[in-house]
Amino acid sequence: MTIKSVDIEFGPIRATADIAAERFCLRCRSTFWSEGFGERICSRCKGTAAWRSAVSESSGHGSRRAGGRS
Ligand SMILES: [Zn+2]
Repeated sequence: MTIKSVDIEFGPIRATADIAAERFCLRCRSTFWSEGFGERICSRCKGTAAWRSAVSESSGHGSRRAGGRS
């Protein structure tokens, strides 16, 4: 008899706000792929000078998802 206690570690409840998902951009209101809760502006709006001046670039690598457009 072997009891697996590992399965209990991962509950059904997930922090949906902290996972990658499609979200609405706060600026242009268009759907974009957000890598996490902190990402609420699409890459296009992030490229604007206004946004860049407001938030200093944290990561310079743009990860585009193939086939993510709808
Ligand atoms: Zn946008």
